[in-house]
Formats: sequence, C-alpha cells, structure tokens
Amino acid sequence: MFVAHNARFDWRFLEAECTAAGVPPLPPLSPGGKPLCTVRLTRRLVPELRRRGLDQVAAFFGIENPARHRAFGDALATAYVLRALLGRACERGVETLEQLIELHDRPQHRMRNAECEVRNIRGEVEPRANSHVNSAFRIPHSEVEHDDGLVLVDTGLGNKEDDKFKDIYGVANEGKGGRTQLEDALAELGYSPTDVRCVIDTHLHFDHAGGNTYREDGEGTVRITFPRATYVVQRGELEFARHTNERTAASYLPPNFEAVPFRLIDGEAEPLPGIRCLPTPGHVPYHQSVLVESGGERVCFLADLVPTSAHLPLPWIMGYDLEPLVTLESKRRLYARAEAEGWLLCFGHDPAVVAGRLGRDGKAFALVDPLLAG
Ligand SMILES: [Zn+2]
Repeated sequence: MFVAHNARFDWRFLEAECTAAGVPPLPPLSPGGKPLCTVRLTRRLVPELRRRGLDQVAAFFGIENPARHRAFGDALATAYVLRALLGRACERGVETLEQLIELHDRPQHRMRNAECEVRNIRGEVEPRANSHVNSAFRIPHSEVEHDDGLVLVDTGLGNKEDDKFKDIYGVANEGKGGRTQLEDALAELGYSPTDVRCVIDTHLHFDHAGGNTYREDGEGTVRITFPRATYVVQRGELEFARHTNERTAASYLPPNFEAVPFRLIDGEAEPLPGIRCLPTPGHVPYHQSVLVESGGERVCFLADLVPTSAHLPLPWIMGYDLEPLVTLESKRRLYARAEAEGWLLCFGHDPAVVAGRLGRDGKAFALVDPLLAG
C-alpha cells in the first residue's frame, strides 16, 4: 500500500476514508514517523529535482503515465516511481526497510528548543529560524551557517531604547548572558558576535535592524554589534530611512543605521554564494527577502512581505504596509517561484509557525508541513 504521489492525497485522507467506511485505519508504513511518501523520498534521493510533482518525477525516471489524473494511471505511475526511488535508495546503500524508513524520516527540519534547524543533505549551509517569543510577536532574526562564516538575516530589536519605548511596543529584549536575546541565542549555538561575517538587513525598521548596533554601557556611544560582519542593505532602503516623513519616522531610528558601514546593493544580489537578496517591495519601497540555497534545498526568509502564516493568502496584507498593492504583486511574484521550486518559507513575526511550504487549498495558497515553534 502506498500513498499516491500527491501531497494532499496523503495518509490522513486514507485514514478518514477508512473511518468513514467503518474499516480500522491501516497503520502507516513508517512506524512512529511519517507515512512513507514518494514526495519526501524524492526530496531526499533526488535533491537536484526542483519540482517533485508526479509529472516531473515520472519524467525524470523516464516513466510513462498511461492515464494522467485517473486513479489507475496515477497509481501505476506512482508505483513505478516508488520502484525507481527504491532502486536509488539501494544505490545509496539502503538494504532494509528500517534503513529506508530512517532515510525517509531523517529530519530535514529539526526543532530544538525554540529554534528550527533546516538541514540539508550535504549540510554546507544550515539556516535557522529563531523563534524567541516576545510579547505577542516574534523578534525577527535568523542565523545561517555558511562556509564563509555565520550570516544573520535581520538583527531583531536590539536593546538601545528607553523604558517608555519598551512600554509602548510591549517589548523586552535584554539578554541573560549577552546584551540581547539574539546574543544569548548565538551563545547557545557556540558563537560570539565577532563570529558573524555577514548581516543582511531586509529593511531598517527598528524591530528588524535595532540589533545592528548597541550603546556602550547601556547609555553611551552607539557601536556596531557585529564588528567583523559586512552589513548588507538595499541602497534605496538606506536613503528611504534617512528621509522620513510623518508616517515613516517612528519606524526608522537613526542609531540603528547611521553608524553602520553598509555594503549597499541595488536590486537582486548574491552577497555570498548561495545567499540571494530578492527585492520584495510594498511594506516599504526597498524591502528585500533573503533566499538561501544549499544542497538542493531553498529556504526563504520573507521578513515583512509575509510577517506571519496568517498573511499567506495574497490579499492578507499588513496595515503597516506603505504600498499594499505593491506588496500584493511582490507576493504573487515570489509565490510563483516558491511554488515551482518548493521553497521552505520562514515567517519572521509568527509566534507559533516558524516555517512551511507553499501549497494550495483549492485556488488559494495554503501552508503545507508547518513547522511550529518549540
Ligand atoms: Zn517592517
């Protein structure tokens, strides 16, 4: 018994059908883990394949589907796909069902404490989406272990502001050991601020860029938090932050960016191999999201393009956004790529859902395989 090659026609569906028919549900083939799934096996065994729908995987293995979109044709093609995948697994040294299940269930996304690690098969880059719950929202910052050193996507709130500010925004970001919770999180991973080689600011709002700098002794001179890092931001965003108006001034606080020796980029750029900045304007005109690619896996830190999983549907756009219709088009453009290439999407502000993949619920976009904050 296998699950047809369609992520939505999965074991839960089969279970519901069994229950409806009054038949005891079949135990999944993978005891204690996820039911054996050809999409999942494909992800592990054919990581170079960007799309893992039945058509793509069948074409990859040279399998013909005698009746596409008919239960018989799809099931037969899936069976051949499974056979081809088992052949590949054997080539990789898999000899027993237990070993196959181990390969199938091997966590690509592992929850540890309050953070999720996105591991890939080769393990050159390990993006982590931290999920330090702070009041009602999460402070957006993520660490990526890159060959060239540690990369941060956004730096969170920092801890420069006074009590009134903290009171207004309901935030607290003091660290237990370090200056901030971000530094505590780095220490937990075995890093100090001097280990950070690159900081990518998605934009310069205080809740994303506040940790770029700190105040000496709490009140003195503003200093760079990560002295050995190259700080990257869109040139337009820095200009925008420097020329505020009544609507934007409260979000752009000069101590977060004026002391920073930025490397300015214009449009799409790849500041480090495998790490790509994608302009996603709308929230602010030069907002960018960050795409990390490694070993066939792609992870996108959406930042304020889609701050929480609740904002996943195209028309759900934050009231904070300066150009909501531009946000709509940025989402549409990014989703087309995310869906085609199976990106893992990370939500910076979601207190519960760290990440997930893009799927469909009818015509609307929906989240598949959500990773929950631990
Ligand atoms: Zn923002």
